[in-house]
Formats: sequence, structure tokens, C-alpha cells
Amino acid sequence: MSDDVHEIYAIKYGHHDRKAAENYIGGDPHDVNDPLDFYVWAIVGPSGTVVVDTGFDAEMAKKRNRALLKPIAEGLKSIDIAPEKVANVIVSHLHYDHTGNYATFPNARYHLQDTEIAYATGRCMCHPLLRLPFEEEDVVAMVRKVFAGRVCFHEGTSQVAPGILVHKIGGHSKGLQCVSVKTKRGTVVLASDATHLYSHIDGGRVFPITYNVGEVLEGYQTIRKLAPSAKHIVPGHDPQVLQRYPAARPGLEGWVARLDVDPKA
Ligand SMILES: [Zn+2]
Ligand SMILES: [Zn+2]
Repeated sequence: MSDDVHEIYAIKYGHHDRKAAENYIGGDPHDVNDPLDFYVWAIVGPSGTVVVDTGFDAEMAKKRNRALLKPIAEGLKSIDIAPEKVANVIVSHLHYDHTGNYATFPNARYHLQDTEIAYATGRCMCHPLLRLPFEEEDVVAMVRKVFAGRVCFHEGTSQVAPGILVHKIGGHSKGLQCVSVKTKRGTVVLASDATHLYSHIDGGRVFPITYNVGEVLEGYQTIRKLAPSAKHIVPGHDPQVLQRYPAARPGLEGWVARLDVDPKA
């Protein structure tokens, strides 16, 4: 393995059943189920393991009426990742489903965009609509990590490790970042909430929780430029990810998938 080529795993931990109309600005004419899955991702390679996002825990699942299927630590352990040994965690943005479990990685440095912490601690949080996807304790936990010297801030495009870059997208949350990862099949883009579902980027549609619609749509262009093909873009909440990609190991079907190999479709 060359020194900047990585394996990537998608680890599902939660689920939420909902109708399609809830997933798009302007709704959807079809009265069909369009559920969201919840994931964290693990990038494994010569720089060690980099975890992307930290999910939510059982308490938050109950508060937010989401299903916690398997705690993220269990998912990581299923592919032999010990959370306490993880040195770097990228947080795509500070929404409750991406930055909980903040005691699970006691030895990690957290990588975050300047804009995201400014957004989550500034005047926009005076508005109930904008603070809805944030949890006060999650944001405070990140501020504490800042004061503990455990946060590495990025602005725009920046390298976390050789072959692993973050890219500011904004849009859905003001400081949302996606992650591009060099793999043996080319650069794979972990979009996180820069596109919740394949249908968002494919159809130019927008998820209702949005700070700036223009930035969401421009973000789709940015992601397409980063990825060599549509098959190299991994949405943040799409149940199809686990159908398109093979299980990381036998027995992990429907739970952990391998993203650095070509998808089936
Ligand atoms: Zn989000
Ligand atoms: Zn999300």
C-alpha cells in the first residue's frame, strides 16, 4: 500500500423512517417511505485510523425519536478499531447526529471548520429554527475540547493527513465540510450532509434543514469536481449505500460496508 492510499468503511448506527416529502424543500409528490440511515465513517491507512463524525448515543436517540441500532463504538470494534486509539476525528459539522458520543475518543484531535464553531456559538443560534439541529451540550463539549487544545481548525480546503483532505461546503450548515480520500479506486468523497441522499445531488434537490440553498447547490458542483465519477460520491444518510457496497466482512451485511472498492451499481 502506498503511503497515501486508504481503506474506507461506512458504519451504520441509526435509522429514521419518514415520508419522501420530509426530505426535500418543496416536498415530494410521491407518498412513499424515504428513510434516513445514520452513519459514521472510518478511514484506515498509513496515517492510522481517521474517524469521520461521531454519531449520537442512546439518550439522544430517545430525545430525538431516532432509532439507535448499534452504538458507534460497537461498529468500530467490528472492524477492529479501538476508539481510544483513534488519534484524529473529522467532524463534518456540529449537528446532533454528527458530533455526539464525545467521550468515546479520549485521545483524538478533532478537525473542524472555523466557520462551523463560529456559526454554532454565534448569533444564528438565537433563532430556534437554525439551532434546531444543534444540541447545546454537543457544542459545549466541542468548546471544551478547544480549551483542552484538542481541536485543529481548518478553513476551506485543508489536509488532515496525506491523501485525506477536508473541503468547506457550507449550505446545509454554515461550516459543513466534506472529506476526500485517496483510495485504490481513485478519490472517494465522503459528502456527509453535503448530500443526504443520492437523490439530492442527482436531482439538484435540497434537504429542508438548510442555512443557504445557493451554497448547497454550489456544493454539489464542488463535490463533482472532487470525485472522478458519480460512483465516487458517498451521501451522508442514504440507505442505498449499504446495498451498493459490499459488507466489510462476512456477517457485517447491513451494518458495515467497504467504500474503497467499486460499488455494485
Ligand atoms: Zn446535518
Ligand atoms: Zn446528518
